[in-house]
Amino acid sequence: MLELSSRDIKYLRGVGPQRASILNKELQVYSLHDLLYYFPYKYVDRSRLYRISEIDGNMPYIQLRGKILSFETLGEGRQRRLIGHFSDGTGIIDLVWFQGLKYITGKYKVNEEYIIFGKPTLFNGRINVAHPDIDLSGEIVLSSLGLRPYYNTTEKMKRSNLNSHAIEKLMKNLFEVVEHETIPETLSGKMLETYHLMPLPEALYNIHFPQNPDLLRRAQYRLKFEELFYVQLNILRYTRERRQKFHGLLFKHVGEIFNTFYQKNLPFPLTSAQMRVIKEMRRDMGSGRQMNRLLQGDVGSGKTLVALMIMLIALDNGFQACLMAPTEILAAQHYETVTRFLNGLNVRVELLTGTVKGKRREIILQGLLTGDVQILIGTHAVIEDTVNFSSLGLVVIDEQHRFGVAQRAKLWSKNTLPPHVLVMTATPIPRTLAMTLYGDLDVSVIDELPPGRKPVRTIHQFDNRRASLYSFIRAQIKEGRQAYIVYPLIQESEKIDIKNLEDGYRHVCEAFPEYKVSKVHGKMKPAEKDAEMQRFLSNETQIMVATTVIEVGVNVPNASIMVIENAERFGLSQLHQLRGRVGRGAEQSYCILVTGYKLSEETRKRIEIMVQTTDGFEIAEADLKLRGPGDLEGTQQSGVAFDLKIANIARDGQLLQYVRGVAERLLESDPDGTNPENAVVWRQLKELQKKNVNWAVIS
Ligand code: ADP
Ligand code: MG
Repeated sequence: MLELSSRDIKYLRGVGPQRASILNKELQVYSLHDLLYYFPYKYVDRSRLYRISEIDGNMPYIQLRGKILSFETLGEGRQRRLIGHFSDGTGIIDLVWFQGLKYITGKYKVNEEYIIFGKPTLFNGRINVAHPDIDLSGEIVLSSLGLRPYYNTTEKMKRSNLNSHAIEKLMKNLFEVVEHETIPETLSGKMLETYHLMPLPEALYNIHFPQNPDLLRRAQYRLKFEELFYVQLNILRYTRERRQKFHGLLFKHVGEIFNTFYQKNLPFPLTSAQMRVIKEMRRDMGSGRQMNRLLQGDVGSGKTLVALMIMLIALDNGFQACLMAPTEILAAQHYETVTRFLNGLNVRVELLTGTVKGKRREIILQGLLTGDVQILIGTHAVIEDTVNFSSLGLVVIDEQHRFGVAQRAKLWSKNTLPPHVLVMTATPIPRTLAMTLYGDLDVSVIDELPPGRKPVRTIHQFDNRRASLYSFIRAQIKEGRQAYIVYPLIQESEKIDIKNLEDGYRHVCEAFPEYKVSKVHGKMKPAEKDAEMQRFLSNETQIMVATTVIEVGVNVPNASIMVIENAERFGLSQLHQLRGRVGRGAEQSYCILVTGYKLSEETRKRIEIMVQTTDGFEIAEADLKLRGPGDLEGTQQSGVAFDLKIANIARDGQLLQYVRGVAERLLESDPDGTNPENAVVWRQLKELQKKNVNWAVIS
C-alpha cells in the first residue's frame, strides 16, 4: 500500500488544494490510501423504487421515478424556498429546496423523467422531500444502484459542499485510479483460504460500493478480521518478547509465614474463587517467568486478602512486597487491615504516603534498604526515586485504573529482575476489552462474593420526593445504620463542585438536626479527610456527605445507605463502585439513585441497569455497549490507540476472541517469522507499528 499512501490526496480528480486542506484537517485524510480507508458509516438500499401512493412520512428513505410538473417559489427572505411538484402517476409530492434555487431551475426541466431519492417528511398534510438527489432516469441502471454508501462529514465539510455525496464521487474517482494499480494483499494466501476471507481489493471496493448485501457482509467481515487480527498479533508478539527478555523471580515454596497465617490467623474460610486465583498466582510465581496478572473482582469480593496471601508467599521466599493504593485513605485502610490480619505474626509492615515525612520516613526508607521492612503499603509515594528496596519480589497495585502505564513501568525497575506484578481492579473489564487493553496481562477473576452478603437493593427516586427519601434515611439511622450522600463532580469547575457539596451539606444538616454530619471532598488536606473518615468509621457521625473521593475501596460495614444525588451525571461503572461502599455488613443495604424528572434515553437505560442487576460484569458489558470502548473508564490513560476503523470491540467481541486464536496459532507455527508464507503478515505488522507508535506500550 506504500504506493497509494505516498500519493497526495490533492492530486485526485475532483479534489485540488482547497478541498485537500479540508480533508486533511477534518478527516486526517492526506493520501489516496487514507481516503480508501475512510469507510461509510451506513448504507441505504437504492435498488428499489417506491410509488408515491405507498409512502408516508415515516420512511427513512425513498426512491421514486417520475416527472416534475411545475416549479413554484414561496416565501420571502430566509423563508424563501423552491417547490417542485413531482408526480409518478400515483400521486404528487413536493420536492423542496432552500438553497441554490437558480441552479436547480436551470438544471432540472419540467416533464423530464427523473429518479429522485431522499427522506420523506410530512408537512402541512403533504409529503415533502427536501434537497433530494436527482438523476436523469435514462442515465441510471437501477439494478446497479444497490446499496449506497453514506459517509460521515463535518459541518465545515458540508459548508464547502463536501457532503457524503461528494465523498462518494471522490471515491468513484479513486477507484478509477486504483483499478490500474494493484492493491497489495495484507494477509497471507493461506489465511484467505483457511478463513474464507475476501481478497483485499475486492473487500475495499465492496465496502464503498457493495454490489449486494451479501458481498457487503463479506467485505466487512474481511476488514474487521484483519483489523482485529493485527491488534492481537501485535500484543501477543510483544508479550512473547517480554517473556523472553525478562526472567521472573522464582518463588519456589510456600513457607512458614503463609502457613502460619493460613492456620492461625485466617478468620474465615476462603471462598473457592479466592482459592482458585491464589493457585493461579502461585503457579505464575513458581514458573520462573515474571507474573503479570490482572485480578478482577467485584467490590467486596475479597481481593485484599488475596493480595495479602500472595505477599506472604513473597516473604516466604526471602523477598519484600509492596502494595500500592490510589488514595491516602485507601492506603491507610489497607495498612490497618493488613496489620490486623497479621496480628501475632512477626512481619514488619510500614505505611508510606506523601504525608509521612522527616524522621519517620527516614526510618522506613532505611528499613526497606536493609530488608527489615517486609511489606510496604502506600500511595504513589512508593514509586518515588528515593524509595529503594533490598529485594522487591512482588508489587500489588490496587484499583488499577488510577495508575498509568508509566507508573507501573517505574515499579518494575525497582529490582534488578522485575518483580512479579499483580494489578487489582473492581471495575470489571469485559473480557473482550481486557484482551485488547491488557493483552499481555493474564487475567484472574473472583466471580463469587463471601457468603452471607445480601445484595444491595437499588431504588430510583426523582428529586422532588426528597421528603420521603429523608424519612427513610432517618428510619435507618434510628436502627443504628449510617448513610452516605454523594454529590457529583462537575469537571469544568472545582468551585462549583465545592458549592454543590456545601449546599448539599447545609441542606442535610438542616434536615437532620438530631444527627452529626461529616463532609469529605477532594480539595481537603489528606489529614483532614482522614480525620473526617475516621469520625464516620467510628460512628461519631451518622451521615457522610461527600464527592466521589469515597468511590474507591473505603470500608465502613455499618453504612447501609448510599444516596447518589444527580445520579444522571455518573457513569455506570462509577455508580457501581459507589454502590459497592454499602452492603458490606450483615444488614440489608440500599442504594438510592436520585435524578431529575427529565432523563435522556441513555441515562434512563443506565439507571434501569443499576436497578436490575448488581453483577459488575453485566454492568461493565452494558457500559461498553452504551458508551463504546474509547470512553470506558481507564482506557484513556492506558495508552492503547482505539482508532479501530471498522471493528467495534463492544459488538465484535466474538470475532475478537476467534481472531486471537488465529494470531496465537500463527505465532506458534512460525515463532521466528521465517516461514515465507507469512512474510506478508510480518511486513504488514511492521507497517502498522510504524503508524501506531502507541501500540507497543501496553503493559
Ligand atoms: P474488595 O475486593 O472490594 O477489595 P475487600 O478485600 O475489601 O474487597 O473485602 C471486603 C470484605 O470481605 C472485607 O471485610 C473482608 O475482610 C471480607 N472478606 C474477604 N474474604 C472473605 C471470605 N472468604 N469470607 C468472608 N469475608 C471475607
Ligand atoms: Mg479493595
